[in-house]
Amino acid sequence: HIQSMVTLSNGRQMPWLGLGVYKMSEGQEVTASIEAAIRNGYRSIDTAALYQNEEGVGQAIKASGISREELFITTKVWNSDQGYDSTLKAFDASMSKLGLDYLDLYLIHWPVKGKYKETWKALEQLHKDGRVRSIGVSNFQIHHLEDLLANAEVRPVVNQVELHPLLSQVELREYCKSQGIQIEAWSPLAQGKLLDNEVLKAIGAKYGKSTAQVIIRWDLQHGIVTIPKSSNPKRIVENANVFDFELTAEEMKQIDGLNQDQRVGPDPDNFD
Ligand code: NAD
Repeated sequence: HIQSMVTLSNGRQMPWLGLGVYKMSEGQEVTASIEAAIRNGYRSIDTAALYQNEEGVGQAIKASGISREELFITTKVWNSDQGYDSTLKAFDASMSKLGLDYLDLYLIHWPVKGKYKETWKALEQLHKDGRVRSIGVSNFQIHHLEDLLANAEVRPVVNQVELHPLLSQVELREYCKSQGIQIEAWSPLAQGKLLDNEVLKAIGAKYGKSTAQVIIRWDLQHGIVTIPKSSNPKRIVENANVFDFELTAEEMKQIDGLNQDQRVGPDPDNFD
């Protein structure tokens, strides 16, 4: 069901499904979306300093009346704040906007060359101080992870990357699995690009499900944490209504076959 959880390699639990809030405006849009999501059972929210809506996320959390322990809140340190001291400062700024006294998951948003290892030391400190329960990375390729793991005192428990049927990231998924790093998919719906795909439509028709639901189900059956974004209450409900059907092994393979190593977002090796 919607609140089912994966146990991360540090023993902490994280919901398999969450709400992404990228490009939601601070204020009404983000608070109304989170309100709809929480009312319909979501407990995990994915934001970032970059999204400039952490205050709205915080207000929605407070208004929800759900106890803090039941929620799972992720935010990320932006590229221009990377480095040790600047990351500690950025974390404080995010936390005061969110109005939280601890965070569930703090991520390095992108692997900024020459900086991400210093940034990681700051995340380790925040973890040691109990201000964040889990620390992880985003947009890290295998070589970034190998580099980070060579000196890490605390290992990243999550790598949030672009992942959808057009970019299935098989190699990275296998590497992360071997290192106990949970993969989380951003832009799981390829920002809407896949919604008219005939293979996905045909599979969905069999179960009375939408293409979005088929993709989210494909994530879950592959053991991928997923955070589809919508600010439309009907779609927020739709995207969570994926726990009452199961794709066959054959259908999973058909969807795997859609991979074209095609990104909708930036290439992590050329973006910082
Ligand atoms: P997405 O793949 O979740 O697609 C969102 C788009 O699909 C929206 O335009 C929405 O209107 C549409 N949509 C959603 N549900 C639908 C449905 N049921 N039917 C039809 N259309 C539907 O794209 P995203 O927002 O880029 O990614 C999801 C989340 O991932 C973001 O909100 C953010 O939290 C995170 N993210 C992280 C990074 C990163 O660098 N770490 C980058 C991009 C996004």
